[in-house]
Amino acid sequence: MAILEIVKDPDPVLRRKAEPVTQVTKRIRRLIKDMLETMYSADGVGLAAPQVGVSERVIVVDIGEGPVALINPEIEIDEASGKEIDVEGCLSIPGTFGYVERAEEVVVNGLNETGRSTRIKAEGLFARALQHETDHLDGVLFIDHALEIQSETDK
Ligand SMILES: [Zn+2]
Repeated sequence: MAILEIVKDPDPVLRRKAEPVTQVTKRIRRLIKDMLETMYSADGVGLAAPQVGVSERVIVVDIGEGPVALINPEIEIDEASGKEIDVEGCLSIPGTFGYVERAEEVVVNGLNETGRSTRIKAEGLFARALQHETDHLDGVLFIDHALEIQSETDK
């Protein structure tokens, strides 16, 4: 495993629409392991592949309940419910925080690291992290829809 370099805004890879993964290969499994190690070493709760310079649809999340990796994640719009506003940050935008409205509960479909279809029901912080990371795959950053943005340098 390896700790990868986290790409920072405004690197263009963060704004690109990431490509779907066509096959869950050894390379993808290694990418997932490296992304998890990178996320843990940076004290993050989620990471998307574009944040390590890989424009492919892979995300990892761990809100303290164990690692979850999803390949080609798709949020089921019909199953999203509730609205919640809470503070978010991003490892690619260090020192910046903002309040973002997200669905309180979501259902996300995708593939796991073995290539199996998986369906995850999430709520609260887990749901928020999944929405934040899935946004990254479409080149969307939380600052794009934050209601209020604060930088540490503003203090
Ligand atoms: Zn982020």
